[in-house]
Order: sequence, then structure tokens, then C-alpha cells
Amino acid sequence: MRTAQVLLRRKIKRIAVKLEKYLGTPHPPSTRAKPIDMLIATLLSQNTNDKNSHRAYIQLKKTFPSWSEIAGVPWQKIASSIHSGGMANQKSKRIKKIIRTIEKEYGSIDLDFLYEKSDDEVIEILSSFDGVGIKTAACVLTFSLGRDIFPVDTHVHRICNRLGLTSNCKTPECTFQQMKPNIPNGKGYSFHTNLIRFGRKICKANNPLCNICPAYKECRYENKEIFAIKRTNRITQKDYEFMLLDNV
Ligand code: SF4
Repeated sequence: MRTAQVLLRRKIKRIAVKLEKYLGTPHPPSTRAKPIDMLIATLLSQNTNDKNSHRAYIQLKKTFPSWSEIAGVPWQKIASSIHSGGMANQKSKRIKKIIRTIEKEYGSIDLDFLYEKSDDEVIEILSSFDGVGIKTAACVLTFSLGRDIFPVDTHVHRICNRLGLTSNCKTPECTFQQMKPNIPNGKGYSFHTNLIRFGRKICKANNPLCNICPAYKECRYENKEIFAIKRTNRITQKDYEFMLLDNV
């Protein structure tokens, strides 16, 4: 292994440890949702916050207790049950199409066969569905199948770039591919969860709270000194609490 990669891995490990000290060590829930449930929950989480998408998911399950019921109803009916999650029309059409595709290609509306597949195979299968990208596939791998994978959303992408953990990555997909071989063993879930919490409350897109950042010394963000002189209130534990994909 080249020296640069060894140093990068050490840096990632140091940051993961710092975040665990600062935010705690997240542990996966003791029971995991089935892959099909996690796929739909992750689709509902796109472009909204966790609480609203959780409400949409609960309402969807209440209206359609089995996924097969969705396959035969007009998309408008699905949309009215998930309106609290935003972009209901687009999401309902997408969900219906995916459910019908799964039924057609695999004979039943179930993705339990993914338990037997490798990480790369799961990504390939799920990414073949309309509207499913690497991030969604990685969430299914981590939160449902219990694999040691590091999903990258916009928060994680932004922070990895600011910290200098990736080079010239313009998309979360690029960040996912560059980070994948360098995540410390067994830390995919914890590091992902803590970076989401960190990105929501500290390393925010427009106004990062660099003055209270536990990773300040490691950071390569060119404006960190400017943000570091701004005063801010301390963050409390309850600010980090609810994570959708732990509650499917
Ligand atoms: S120093 Fe600022 S920009 Fe850098 S990681 Fe911390 S909060 Fe984000």
C-alpha cells in the first residue's frame, strides 16, 4: 500500500474516533428491516427530513399493509398516503414502478434473496431500478443487510471533501468509491451515522460551526478560519437523536 493511502486511512480513523468521542458511538438497531422495506423507506427519505419521511413511511404501511396492494392501485392513491414526505407524485410513481419491476423480474415482491448476494451484486441489482442510485443501495446494505458499508449522502459528501478525505470529488458517488477502501473495519455504520449528525448540526452546508468543531485541526476547508471566529450556541444531544433508517 502506498504511503499516501496509509496516511489517509490513519486520518480517517482519527476523525472517526474524534466523532465517536464527541457524538457517541452509534450502534445499529437490534432488529433490522427487510431489504424491500428499507429500499422503500430510503426512497421516501430523498429530499426531505427524517421526521417527515418517517411519517410518510408509517402512513404508507398503514394504507397498504402489504406491498402487493401497491402494485395494483393508481399512483395518485399512493401519493395521497405519502404527501407528508414531499415530492409525493414523483415518489409514488417511482415506488409503484419498482414494486412492479421486482414482481416481474423475481416472481414475488420480496428482496430477501439479497441476503445471499455480495455487496457489489446488491449495488448492481438495486441500481438497475429507476430512481435508485448507489447511495440508496448502500443504505439497504448497511441498515437492512448489516454489511460494513459507508453510505454517502450530500452531508457525508460535503464533509469528506472539506476534511480532505477525497480528491476532486464532485458527486456523492465519487466520494463513495474513494472512501470505500479506506473506512476502518467495522466502522461503516458508526462513521456514516456520526457524519450525518455532524453535517446536520455542525459542519452545515452554509454556516459551518467551525468554532466548536472537534475535527478542526484535520480540516482542509479553505474558509474554516472565517467561520471559526463566529460565536455559536452549544449543541445538545437531543439535536442528533432521530435517524430515519434506524426506525424503519
Ligand atoms: S472545521 Fe468547519 S468546515 Fe471543517 S469539518 Fe469542522 S465544521 Fe466542517
